Amino acid sequence: MGIAISFKMIDLRTGAFMNQSIRIVLLCVLLLSSVSASPPMQKIRLKLKWFSSFQFAGYYMALEKGFYKEAGLDVTIMERDPQKNNIVQVVEGEAEYGVADSALLLYRAEGKPVRIMASIFQHSPLIFIAHKDSGIVSPYELKGKKVSYQKGIDDAPLLAMLDQANLGATDYTYSPLDFTGRAFMNREVDVMSAYSSDQPFLMREKNIPITIINPLNYGIDFYGDNLFSTEKELSEHPERAQQFLEASIRGWHYALANKEETIALLRSKYNAQSSVEHLRYEAQISEDMMLPSMVDVGYTNPQRFYRIAEIYRAMNKANKGDLDRALDGLIWNPYEKHQIDVRYFYLSLGLLGLIFLIAVILVAISRKLRSMVIKRTRDLEEQQMMTDKYVIISATDLQGTMTYVSKAFCEISGYSHDELIGKTHTVVHHPDTPSSVYKELWQHLHTNRSWSGEIKNIDKNGNVYWVLTYIEPIVNESGITTGYRGIQQNITDKKYAEELSVTDQLTQLYNRSYLDKTLHREVTRFQRYGTPLSIIMIDLDYFKEVNDVYGHLSGDAVLVEIARILKTNIRVTDILGRWGGEEFMIICVQNSGDEAVRLAEKLRLTIALHPFSDVGTKTASFGVTSIEENDNELSLVQRVDTALYRAKKLGRNRVVESKTIQ
Ligand code: GH3
Ligand code: MG
Ligand code: MG
Repeated sequence: MGIAISFKMIDLRTGAFMNQSIRIVLLCVLLLSSVSASPPMQKIRLKLKWFSSFQFAGYYMALEKGFYKEAGLDVTIMERDPQKNNIVQVVEGEAEYGVADSALLLYRAEGKPVRIMASIFQHSPLIFIAHKDSGIVSPYELKGKKVSYQKGIDDAPLLAMLDQANLGATDYTYSPLDFTGRAFMNREVDVMSAYSSDQPFLMREKNIPITIINPLNYGIDFYGDNLFSTEKELSEHPERAQQFLEASIRGWHYALANKEETIALLRSKYNAQSSVEHLRYEAQISEDMMLPSMVDVGYTNPQRFYRIAEIYRAMNKANKGDLDRALDGLIWNPYEKHQIDVRYFYLSLGLLGLIFLIAVILVAISRKLRSMVIKRTRDLEEQQMMTDKYVIISATDLQGTMTYVSKAFCEISGYSHDELIGKTHTVVHHPDTPSSVYKELWQHLHTNRSWSGEIKNIDKNGNVYWVLTYIEPIVNESGITTGYRGIQQNITDKKYAEELSVTDQLTQLYNRSYLDKTLHREVTRFQRYGTPLSIIMIDLDYFKEVNDVYGHLSGDAVLVEIARILKTNIRVTDILGRWGGEEFMIICVQNSGDEAVRLAEKLRLTIALHPFSDVGTKTASFGVTSIEENDNELSLVQRVDTALYRAKKLGRNRVVESKTIQ
């Protein structure tokens, strides 16, 4: 078969170009290679249901014609040992395969792991025969008669037929079967069970007319011979089981098509005891049982076994549960394995599809995540860049030495990154900023508190800039402070606007409105905390003359010069402003009246001795007063005004202190 296929394939491939001689050479090569490559023969055994006869012709011919050999099988056909149960023998492993009738279903229901591979005889050959002259023509006439058959599970079709005719065990007399048929011939029994392929022929040979009572005619249609095996064999060797089945079917086709050859062989080689005539009869009956023209040889109809199971159940041969379980898987399908393979194939395909789908989803998710991460990283970098560019940040160690500065810090301070790292913030400190500010700042940081405030700084080029500063300690995972970080906001413009609103444009001193606010603040502070406060009011003497003689611009210049003199001679804590025209005020915080008088005197002398360009010397009069109980801004200013008025009255260029309480 393999060679034929190979040959065909070569033929197809090479077509008309291949000449006959090449084909023959190739055929030989293939033959040799197939012989040398053939696997070792597998030994299997087939246990028959009875002795050699045409009933098993298919198997003998498959063996004889080399069909088994071609399938790689070394088959031993074993005749029945009447003392033993051939089904049990197969189950117990004395053979791998066997031939048995529908009773296989009952064995399976009892838990024997048998499975039917093929139903060779479509009908059971088991019948009753009766003497023609007995008048017995159907099961209905058996009432009260002597009936002979072999008791056991093989009797099912016969008993089912009797049952159908409402004949129970007590309705007739049972007699054990005499296989020789002598008891029947001697009319010791009325009817005997028989094989349709056997006894009718023997009776005809002996000229004993008989009537056949066939269960088939009463709706009892059991399968005859079935080829069967065990669960173990079929699951462990499905390929060889299939090959054995196919070769056996092939053998049956051969036997039916070559009956004479088969019969001769059965007699000459396989010890068939029957005469040629008998075997011919048997061959004919066998063919009738197989119906090869109507049914594929070996075909098993599962529905028929359902019916057989019902009959067994009705006869109480087995219960429904066991029979239902036995029916499940009773018939072996040679393609079962492949079906499972196909199922696995589709399952694997499905799994692969699922894995592919999951992989696609995972790839999509990872791509999405990656793009999100890239975007987020870019955003963060951008944010960091923006922060670095626009936020004034610095970090220092515990000593205040800078370890990090942002670009914005470099930009506002005018120093490069390298110029700042390793230095302290003193490089940008403005001399105007009181040291008390830094003292307070460090006190906070040393006690692990943050600090915030406005600081006046100076850049590398000497320009002033103001920053609103927030400084906090840097604390590591262990809770230890490792340094400080400062975030600053450039508030120079705001500060400039603020300064503008409180500054007198001519003298650059605080203006009147600032002096008013300061007075209010300090009076309130006195009222709340009793903080001492003195004020000095200054009015230039005969200033009108300066304008009149030298002009307004010279007058302005004198005012600017006076402002400078006053400013350079007061303390940082004193607040100096232009009260109006050529009048000035100094608010001395936390000063006693005496101190204020001393300051006023010092200022008076300095002015009086100062040579003003163009105008020569000028003098000024000073009023001084200190805050008292029940004072408010108005009473305080009125009193200093009074002192100044007195100074003028007393001849100018002098200091007068005014006190309510003497
Ligand atoms: P005294 O105070 O000694 O009584 O005499 P005085 O001439 O200074 O008199 P008073 O204080 O009343 O005069 C104020 C003068 O100061 C008037 C004005 O000419 C001058 N003056 C006021 N403001 C300005 C200013 O901003 N620029 C100039 N150039 N002169 C001013
Ligand atoms: Mg005046
Ligand atoms: Mg004046």
